[in-house]
Amino acid sequence: MLKVGITGGIGSGKTTVCKIFESLNIPIYYADDRAKSLMVNDMKLVKDIKQLLGENAYLKNGSLNREYISAIVFSDKTMLEKLNQLVHPAVRLDGENWFKSQVNKPYALKEAALHFESGGYQLMDKMITVFASEAIRIERVMKRDKTTAEAVKARIDKQLPDSEKIRLADFVIYNDGTQSLIKQVVKVHQVLVDLSR
Ligand code: ATP
Repeated sequence: MLKVGITGGIGSGKTTVCKIFESLNIPIYYADDRAKSLMVNDMKLVKDIKQLLGENAYLKNGSLNREYISAIVFSDKTMLEKLNQLVHPAVRLDGENWFKSQVNKPYALKEAALHFESGGYQLMDKMITVFASEAIRIERVMKRDKTTAEAVKARIDKQLPDSEKIRLADFVIYNDGTQSLIKQVVKVHQVLVDLSR
């Protein structure tokens, strides 16, 4: 079974595209959601995070103290890097186990915003990048998250440029209104099914 990564900048439409793959019966691993769950349920990771950020990283009920963690990592870039160095390997391991558990499928998808930035893409057989222009993405995320253009732009600036994400991808899906999304997904799906034979 092929391991396929899917990525794209914030608001490019990764989740939207994944829903179409799901409708084709392809299993999806949502790395960002899974990371949040592992940060609470993976006891080794919990211990490492407490060691890095202190006991206050968790609330009394065991859930993440998001405000506390955000305050630290947004003001100290090295802390963010250190936290990522703990979380990314845990997600990678969990993702690999998940791929192994997918049977009787031609391929499975792992969706992650930072596939290229984290280096996780190196474990994938193929990579898909979802593309939409920065202007479109800012507009979509402002609407979705009820936030400002500046806040979205600040998040975009922390990610790898689109040109690099396109250069490193095997497939690019354009979610900018220029082409039918469904037709593009079906085309990539057919190529991946053929490759897996
Ligand atoms: P993030 O990186 O923030 O998780 P994402 O890449 O997963 O974002 P989506 O959540 O799929 O992106 O899309 C961002 C927003 O844009 C959503 O509100 C979604 O409904 C909307 N959207 C996505 N694609 C389109 C489209 N082709 N036309 C109109 N709206 C769209």
